[in-house]
Amino acid sequence: MLAYTTTQIQELHAEFLHEKGIKLFIKREDQNHPHVSGNKWWKLKYNLDEAKKLGHSKLLTFGGAFSNHIYSTAAAANELGIESIGMIRGEEIFPLNHTLTFAKEMGMRLHFVTREAYRKKTEQDFIDELQTKFGDFYLIPEGGFNQFAVNGCAEFGEQLKTEFAFDYLCLPVGTGATMAGIIAGVGNSKRVVGFSALKSGDFLVKDVKANLKEYADTDFSNWEIMTDFHFGGYAKTTAQLLDFKKSFETKYHIPLDHVYTAKMMAGIFDLLARGYFERGSTILVVHTGGLQGNTSVI
Ligand SMILES: *Cc1c(COP(=O)(O)O)cnc(C)c1O
Repeated sequence: MLAYTTTQIQELHAEFLHEKGIKLFIKREDQNHPHVSGNKWWKLKYNLDEAKKLGHSKLLTFGGAFSNHIYSTAAAANELGIESIGMIRGEEIFPLNHTLTFAKEMGMRLHFVTREAYRKKTEQDFIDELQTKFGDFYLIPEGGFNQFAVNGCAEFGEQLKTEFAFDYLCLPVGTGATMAGIIAGVGNSKRVVGFSALKSGDFLVKDVKANLKEYADTDFSNWEIMTDFHFGGYAKTTAQLLDFKKSFETKYHIPLDHVYTAKMMAGIFDLLARGYFERGSTILVVHTGGLQGNTSVI
C-alpha cells in the first residue's frame, strides 16, 4: 500500500466571490504524497493492488516525456519495491528532462519508442512483443486510464462527499478516468464540472459515459465538461494563462501546474464572472497535483 497523507480543504477568500454569494474551496490533493500526487495516487491505487494480486513484480506503462503519470508510476513502483518500465513517446533527448531524470532515479527503465510504434500501444501484438522482450509485466495503459483507475477515483469521490458539504465539484480532465470515478463517487446530488486540458475535448463526454456505464448501470447525469479552456491544446500555454497562473499563486499562495490546474482555475474564474454558478452555492475544486511539471516551463 502506498503512503497517503490526509489533505486539507482551503477556502479561497476574494471580494468577487463574496459579491457573488459563492464560497470556493480547494481540496489540496496535490499534497497527498510527495511524488505520487493528486489524482495519480487514486488512479494507481487499485492497479497496484491488482498487480500484486496477480503476482506481478514488474509494471509497464506508456507516457510522454513530461508525463505526470510516468513520474508517479516510477515513484509508486519504487516505494513498493517493484520494477517499472516506462515506454516513452519520441526520441531520447539529452540531457533528460526533470520528469525522466526523476523516473530513472526511481529505478524506472526508460525505453523510447517512435511516434509510429507508440500508436500501437493498445494492440495485443505489440503488447505480446513487449512481453517477449521484457518478461511478464502488469500493464497500466497510457495515462493510467482503465477501470481500476475509475474505481480508485470513485473511492476518492465518496470520501469527498462525506468529508465536506458542497454543491459543485470542479476538476481538470485529461483522459476522463478521474472524472468518471468522481461522478460515480459523489452521485447525482452534486454537480460535477470538468475542464478539458485538451483541444476539441468533446469526445471526452463519450469516454466518461462509457467508463461510468462500466462502473455501474446507473444514470449519472449531473455533470458537464467545459471544452473552451484548453489555451491552445494539451500542454500548450499562452502568455495569458501564465499571467493568470502567476497572479493566482501570488494572491492565494496555492501553486498550480500549467497543463491542468491553471487551465481549470482560469475556467472557473471565467464561469464565475459569467454567472454560471448559482448564488449561495459552495464550489469544491480538486487540486489534482501535477506540480512536478512546473520545472519544465521556462
Ligand atoms: C493526469 C492528470 C489529470 C487528468 O486525469 P485524467 O484521469 O486523465 O482525466 C488532471 N490533473 C493532473 C494534475 C494530472 O496529472
